[in-house]
Amino acid sequence: MSNAFTLFERHVNPGLAGLLRFTGLDVEEDRAEGVYVWDKNGKRYLDFLGLYGTMNLGHRHPRVLEAVRRQLDRMPMSVRVMVSEPQARLAAKLAEITPGPLSMVFFGNSGAEAVEAAFKLARLHTGKPEIITTTGGFHGKTFGALSLTPKPEYQDPVRPLVPGVKTVPFGDAEALEAAITDQTAAVILEPIQGEGGINLPPEGYLRAVREITRERGVLLIVDEVQTGMGRTGKLWASEWEGIEPDLLTTAKALGGGVMPIGAVVGRPELFAAFQHNPLVHSSTFGGNPLACAAALAAIEVTLEEGLPQRALEMGGYLLSGLKRLAERYPEFIQEVRGKGLMIGLEFTDADIGALVISELATRGVLTAFGLNNPKVVRLEPPLIIERSHVDEALEALEASLEATQTTLEGVL
Ligand SMILES: *Cc1c(COP(=O)(O)O)cnc(C)c1O
Repeated sequence: MSNAFTLFERHVNPGLAGLLRFTGLDVEEDRAEGVYVWDKNGKRYLDFLGLYGTMNLGHRHPRVLEAVRRQLDRMPMSVRVMVSEPQARLAAKLAEITPGPLSMVFFGNSGAEAVEAAFKLARLHTGKPEIITTTGGFHGKTFGALSLTPKPEYQDPVRPLVPGVKTVPFGDAEALEAAITDQTAAVILEPIQGEGGINLPPEGYLRAVREITRERGVLLIVDEVQTGMGRTGKLWASEWEGIEPDLLTTAKALGGGVMPIGAVVGRPELFAAFQHNPLVHSSTFGGNPLACAAALAAIEVTLEEGLPQRALEMGGYLLSGLKRLAERYPEFIQEVRGKGLMIGLEFTDADIGALVISELATRGVLTAFGLNNPKVVRLEPPLIIERSHVDEALEALEASLEATQTTLEGVL
């Protein structure tokens, strides 16, 4: 009988299988608990990737598991022609914990679905076709979301895309203002770009964009799919500049690392289209009871355990350790940057980054590069990590940098 890796290579994604082989991760995952994952050979890995910002609570948080088990035994799926209590309660909770007047929610099953819904709500509300996105932005890979993700490798092979999308440089409020026309419905951006390589905009950028969009009567969609749920040291990264978007998307960590769920939360007037036609947008599985029970528990844990504050503390500790290493390896590490536990390690060369990722995997630490920027290795560990885990990761990174240097000296 073939092993799962062979079956995956043959039936799912041979290219990805090759990539995994290169990084030494041509193994099968077996189980996970807290900040650790084990493969089928019994090897343990510290998860410093955290499913790109999904595992804020670590793997299998007991309170999320308990909430899901209870819902599973009661009613995992909604019949859709009655009201689902977990969904209604989660919507009210999201209204309570998101900035300002955001109070209506549409549920999907992923980040891309949350973005699709936001895109449609913006057109429905304004009756205008155009939307402005930013260079390096990542909003998902379904057609609408992909149209907002200006990366030729993903866009070009599948054109035509959804029309009406303009791209402006991330961090440049003036360029954004200049791109607005009387046909612009909305602007979409991430408060800190994730897949683009952990890009922090200049101080004041989000506030400036909020002012410009308000003055020009354009909606602001803040995509917090990766930055949300405490990752950057605030529950929402929008809070760092005190802005209130018109629509806010969330997904990844919302399901507590147990269930997939996505949502867009918005000002009530943006949902008026549902009054005219309640089914103008819908999803069979979006906001199902199991996912909503997980999200409600995840929000409770995040707030009760003060995880945003913890992300800030542990992030500061990790960042200072990384900066020490960056100073010792300037030929490898160009920059270390981030906020809370959303941290990027920019290498001088994407191949060196790949070697380091592979060395880290050998030493039992999981990381990956940004989808839109292979020079940057992302560190997004669970927010529940302790100093000892950070020390463990830093030791492995130091040894990995040494090993990479030795390898390269052998080549040169
Ligand atoms: C991951 C991500 C998405 C897409 O989410 P999926 O669940 O993979 O569809 C959208 N926006 C941002 C900012 C993301 O990081």
